[in-house]
Amino acid sequence: MPVAINCCTQRQERLWDSMKALDPPCDAMIVTSRHNLRYLTGFTGSNGVAVATASGTFFFTDPRYQFQAAQEVAAKAKAVTGPLLNQVAALATRRKWKRLGFEQDHLTAGQFELLRSKMTRHQTWLPRSGVVETLRMVKSDEELACIALSVKTNSMALDAALRRLRAGMSEAELAAEIDYQMCKLGAEKPSFDTIVAAGVRSALPHAHPTRLPIGPGVLLIDMGAFQGGYASDMTRTFFLGEPTREMARIYKAVLEAQLAAIDVVRPGIKASAVDRAARNVLKAHGLDKAFMHSTGHGLGLEIHEPPRLGKKEGTKLEAGMAITIEPGAYVEGVGGVRIEDTLRVTTQGCEVLTPTPKELRVL
Ligand code: ZN
Ligand code: ZN
Repeated sequence: MPVAINCCTQRQERLWDSMKALDPPCDAMIVTSRHNLRYLTGFTGSNGVAVATASGTFFFTDPRYQFQAAQEVAAKAKAVTGPLLNQVAALATRRKWKRLGFEQDHLTAGQFELLRSKMTRHQTWLPRSGVVETLRMVKSDEELACIALSVKTNSMALDAALRRLRAGMSEAELAAEIDYQMCKLGAEKPSFDTIVAAGVRSALPHAHPTRLPIGPGVLLIDMGAFQGGYASDMTRTFFLGEPTREMARIYKAVLEAQLAAIDVVRPGIKASAVDRAARNVLKAHGLDKAFMHSTGHGLGLEIHEPPRLGKKEGTKLEAGMAITIEPGAYVEGVGGVRIEDTLRVTTQGCEVLTPTPKELRVL
């Protein structure tokens, strides 16, 4: 789904406002993150750089993207040969910009050296972090609609893939089935490598699917789609056959923790307080040490975006943010449970977008 040009222009204006507020303010901001470029200009290609200034945004790409840039980009676009940063340096010198901001998390040391080698002694480079990412945290209604659609497709893909689950199927085969169903139902691609972890392997929070057959016991599936450029993210933990008493106890505790965290999501609450709500429940069940990741994360053009819902995250939630809530408990040699939904923060609290039920389910 192409981004409306006027939508990108507004985003560029918001970026310019936030650049003026930086200390010291920048004369120009060089944007190299692929996701930030898409957000600001609409460009969906893999090679581009934008320079945001008070007099507008400049965009450079290579000739492969000449036609695509003309169709997509809401900026003064130019296709050039050679390193794109050479053009940026030449433009900066021509326009006599003195303070040049750049994305320190998205520029390699080599690229920075290239820029610096072209710098005059009157120019200063200002490393900046998370400037565009901060703008991206609160989504527009259009972005939230894309996320909601992606979430719906993701849940439908899980249902379709589970209908095809057969005895002897491997983790890798089920993961491939999930990815296939996702794309068949409208997604562009998975938003990350689909996790299918059976049996004791479910205790590995980021397990890679193997050729091992899915046997009786735990089946943890963590999956997400990109649709219209926007991510969804969901984890469900099932049981093939009746769960052991220990696994049923862990499942109940994780579900209670997930619901407790969802219950406190509202504008103004600190991300760390949402994390604490989940962690306190797991602690009461003696499972706090079995929960070794954060409670959730923002998502949008990327699967992981600010804010992170972790122990020390001071960011306050705002209406329009899209986040996940995904506590888990993992016991080595026994198994793991994670339950994850995608939510949007509303003016009153939150709306859980994921329609897939989460009561303990035996397949
Ligand atoms: Zn996930
Ligand atoms: Zn997640």
